[in-house]
Amino acid sequence: MKKEFAVIGLGRFGGSICKTLSDQGMEVLAIDIDEDKVNEYANIAAHAVIGDSLDENVLKSLGIRNFGNVIVAIGDNIQASILTTLILKELGVEHITVKAQNEYHEKVLSKIGADRIVHPERDMGRRIANSLMSNTVLDYLELSEEHSIVELVAGQKIDGNSLIDLDIRAKYGINIVAIKRNHDIIVSPQASETIRQGDILIVIGADVDINRFENRLV
Ligand code: ADP
Repeated sequence: MKKEFAVIGLGRFGGSICKTLSDQGMEVLAIDIDEDKVNEYANIAAHAVIGDSLDENVLKSLGIRNFGNVIVAIGDNIQASILTTLILKELGVEHITVKAQNEYHEKVLSKIGADRIVHPERDMGRRIANSLMSNTVLDYLELSEEHSIVELVAGQKIDGNSLIDLDIRAKYGINIVAIKRNHDIIVSPQASETIRQGDILIVIGADVDINRFENRLV
């Protein structure tokens, strides 16, 4: 698999993707129409260039089709985001990830063949709302409409119980995949592992089952 990444649009979202990939040692080509943005990322990305992604020749001359992953992170300009995706598709880019602004934008992107469509604001809003609604939920990742991975804080009620005592898998149909305790993490805990108050339980399962278990925690 080709590992190189190109990020088009260096706003908050594209910039953060560019920085994270670069910090992880990935080779990133950063493209933006705005010179100031490009200067900002000149020392972060392997290559940073000024360019308009609506100009097919610019993308061609950058050899965009040789990149394994291209991320379209153009924010408010939906038309530019769609046209850029279309050009990338026509040039034969293998894997295109695009940030969508709304449901209509997403529909069009999926029709023209974007491989992955992300909604960072909507998804982060949901995650934060879910953690705000509950004293025990710290974080949450939606796997499907009905399934999630959730970080829950163990309360006093289950302090001192082992996983086998609680019979979590049979009673709730969920799995504890890891327990965070202070600075340690116990991955795939044994059934004999005892839960302590304040432990962070990383739980996977159906939302309804996780909710039932959550009510048992505090
Ligand atoms: P965010 O919401 O992630 O901060 P912004 O809308 O602020 O997104 O940023 C989008 C970036 O995309 C801007 O830096 C803008 O200059 C860049 N951009 C917009 N249109 C083009 C284009 N046609 N080609 C290249 N970069 C573009």
